[in-house]
Amino acid sequence: MRVTANREVCVGAGMCALTAPEVFDQDEEDGRVHLLTDNPLDEQRDKVREAERLCPSRALAISG
Ligand code: SF4
Repeated sequence: MRVTANREVCVGAGMCALTAPEVFDQDEEDGRVHLLTDNPLDEQRDKVREAERLCPSRALAISG
């Protein structure tokens, strides 16, 4: 699994960091997403999929 995050469309809602904190963090200043890894572990996959589903701005993309 590969994850990408488009910071241009991220609105800093934070659902990703709440849902999968091992994979997503938020910028301390503007709240936008930071990827902690673009290649999550197998056991993190379900949470990453959930975060992608919950993101209100569709900023997250998953492949593989
Ligand atoms: S859930 Fe989406 S909009 Fe919110 S911080 Fe994460 S990537 Fe950005």
